[in-house]
Amino acid sequence: MNYDFLIVGAGFAGAVCAERLAASGKRVLVVDKRNHIGGNAYDREDENGVLIHPYGPHIFHTNSKRIFEYLSGFTDWRFYEHRVKAYVDGDLYPIPINRTTINKLYGLDLSEQDTIAFLESVREAREVNTTSEDVVLSSVGPDLCDKFFRGYTRKQWGLDLSELSAGVAARIPTRSNDDDRYFTDTFQFMPAHGYTAMFEKMLDSPNIDVRLSTDYDVVKANIECGHVVYTGPIDAYFGYRFGKLPYRSLHFQHQHLSDVERFQTTGTINYPNDHEYTRITEFKHLTGQQHQGTSIVKEYPRAEGEPYYPIPRKENEALFMRYSELAETVTDVTFVGRLAQYRYYNMDQVVGAALKAVETLV
Ligand code: FAD
Ligand code: UDP
Repeated sequence: MNYDFLIVGAGFAGAVCAERLAASGKRVLVVDKRNHIGGNAYDREDENGVLIHPYGPHIFHTNSKRIFEYLSGFTDWRFYEHRVKAYVDGDLYPIPINRTTINKLYGLDLSEQDTIAFLESVREAREVNTTSEDVVLSSVGPDLCDKFFRGYTRKQWGLDLSELSAGVAARIPTRSNDDDRYFTDTFQFMPAHGYTAMFEKMLDSPNIDVRLSTDYDVVKANIECGHVVYTGPIDAYFGYRFGKLPYRSLHFQHQHLSDVERFQTTGTINYPNDHEYTRITEFKHLTGQQHQGTSIVKEYPRAEGEPYYPIPRKENEALFMRYSELAETVTDVTFVGRLAQYRYYNMDQVVGAALKAVETLV
């Protein structure tokens, strides 16, 4: 079979590349080893008709008008601002830490100005924030760090905050006001009919063929194409020749509660210090679906399994650089996406990276 492009992976990276290439008249084959499109953003109805995210909760947010407008070509949107609470010492508190969190936790009645002064009094100043521990201690100090961050991070990554690059904890801001939204991006929406429906539209072109349950390693010898866009793990592409890149995995425990309309008060509740799971998400908050029952997911971090998260720390970045340098010598393959670029990318960042990669290909 003859194609201009073979795209490995039907997640955001692969689907954006396929859509752009097909729109410019190229013949594209997309293969994915899973039996569905959408990668980790895939959603579907569970056995009870509740729309769930099998690979954990996915909330779309971006500051990029360009990325939002690009995706708007394939979906309508539902306005949704995610809110998260953390279960600490038997009670629920807003996370990111804000004025409400501090007042409730310490029995105070601080104004916004007082909260700034409070944080100033507890934080441990650092010259540079190299690790995630630096980030947390220099913004909220040791007590809030232990209550909200250290245990969660240990569970999620199997590492101490001090062993992770600054960027991990820097994802979570600290606020002196009452803003309890998880994200403050300009555009915060969920695809109105779900992610999978959006992916179907992106891939719906006479120039695109999609083959599911198809592993690139198995079929690569039988497919002729001018160029490959690879969105799987970069170390796997090169047969792990420099050793395995560490990825963190998760086990998702999905549950349907048939006689409960609302399980929890916010989309997600984090459990930094209790339980083996890190968080519980109730999907109906995210999707706005009406249903007499509800479906939730608990996330249990794992060392082994599907590679969900690159692990941002110095030695891993150094190992990735070796693969990346090797990748640059392979001129007929483009590596893009969270696994191929070994970056802790959100969905919008993957879309941005794919749009950029594809520009040079078109
Ligand atoms: P993927 O979605 O991983 O797609 C890669 C695809 O390649 C997969 O489908 C895989 O099966 C396929 N593949 C790999 N190797 C092969 C092979 N050899 N042959 C064939 N196919 C192959 N981002 C947000 O913006 N907001 C969120 O709320 C959010 N929540 C998240 C929650 C969790 C639990 C996780 C794990 C991630 C979350 N993300 C979130 C990040 C988001 O999932 C990613 O940024 C995005 O889905 C990555 O897209 P991708 O195309 O790079 O990779
Ligand atoms: N984090 C934490 N406590 C929390 C929330 C986050 O310690 O209540 C830390 C933890 O290390 C986590 C990181 O901040 O992995 C990033 O959190 P985010 O919610 O962005 O993770 P994701 O949704 O990508 O799993």
